[in-house]
Amino acid sequence: MQANTDLLARRERLLGRGMSTFYTDPVHLVRGSGVWLWDADGRKYLDCYNNVPHVGHCHPAVVEAICRQASLLNTHTRYLHEGILGYVERLTATFDPSLSTAIMTCTGSEANDIALRMAQAVTGRTGVIATDHTYHGNTTAVSQLSTRMPPVGGFGGHVRHVPAPDSARPLGGAPGTAFTARVEQAIADLEATTHGFSAFILCPYFANEGFPDLPPGFLDGAIAAVRKAGGVVIADEVQPGFGRTGSHFWGHQRAGFMPDIVTLGKPMANGHPVGAVVTTPDTLNAFRKAFRYFNTFGGNPVSCAAALVVLDVLRDENLMENARAVGDYARHGLERLAARHDLIGMVRGTGLFFGAELMLDRTARTPAPDHATRLINGMKDRGILMGKIGVGECTTKIRPPMPFSRDNADLMLEVLDDALATL
Ligand code: PMP
Repeated sequence: MQANTDLLARRERLLGRGMSTFYTDPVHLVRGSGVWLWDADGRKYLDCYNNVPHVGHCHPAVVEAICRQASLLNTHTRYLHEGILGYVERLTATFDPSLSTAIMTCTGSEANDIALRMAQAVTGRTGVIATDHTYHGNTTAVSQLSTRMPPVGGFGGHVRHVPAPDSARPLGGAPGTAFTARVEQAIADLEATTHGFSAFILCPYFANEGFPDLPPGFLDGAIAAVRKAGGVVIADEVQPGFGRTGSHFWGHQRAGFMPDIVTLGKPMANGHPVGAVVTTPDTLNAFRKAFRYFNTFGGNPVSCAAALVVLDVLRDENLMENARAVGDYARHGLERLAARHDLIGMVRGTGLFFGAELMLDRTARTPAPDHATRLINGMKDRGILMGKIGVGECTTKIRPPMPFSRDNADLMLEVLDDALATL
């Protein structure tokens, strides 16, 4: 405890005030393996939260690939190298054939920043539509989209927010109709300005918005409206990508729409900082013509080796299927808990990305954010790490590394039952 107080004081002195931490009493982690983490006192935690170590913390194949390439060569992409080419070939093979080119970056924020400029290069316009309560990253341009961290001075005149779909509190009418109407209205609004309408950016899973369960075709009307107006669809796959939802490798494939630009990050190289923008050759070439672009670290051989081996491990360990099977199993377990705990108002999600929305009143659907905070802290005290998210900040975010097993799920559910009972 004293050690944590000292670390917190050093963080504030060295890294500045207001850096966010998880949990009221933050965890000081020193080691990870698979789905497990250990703190400085040797205490073991089950990681039900981290999507970045996608194939498991410190996966030996990833560690080996990084070490091997780091001991051979690491340099930038102005030299020719097989690594980036081999990786982009493997990566783009997972998409629709039209999405056959990529730019490699170091973060998801950079990827989204480039995506906005690609949309500008293609359309000649700058107006962007995003969902409210979203998060797409931290560059100046991209932070303009993120209502969770409002930019200093407010949003630019080129941004319009539409309400994120919320399956606990749907807008009414046939599914998707009200959402489409809001997108159409935002397009018309932007077209009446000098910005014009350039792009609609969305996470196909609405992950940061609380991953609503949406019926098939929910987004069809909105996507059609974007196309009709000559706009570009950007799918931010930073969260649902790489097989996490269990049914599809990409969130947009699951949601049933075809993006023009796809952005990637977090799980891509198991914690090594790698992101990418995947698009059509025409869009990429329009971007390269309109903007000079070079990224010193993006696409370096070590990053590409790490990213490539993640694709290998996903395939060799059958992890997308594991996400489907264990995800189903764990979600059904959560539904059983809902029958015993009134606080669980709704269970949502798919694959290894699911959670329970906590409500004070199921009929009125009153969000229970304080209970959610207490719950995730109580789980941490019992050795299980999870988070909370969503429009009401009251949905548990369960998004473990992909090798998460049924035994892991059983442990999580057992502890959750206990933590809910003592709330
Ligand atoms: N898009 C989404 C949907 C995200 O959740 C995040 C990060 N949480 C980002 C983009 C930004 O990625 P990064 O932190 O790598 O810049």
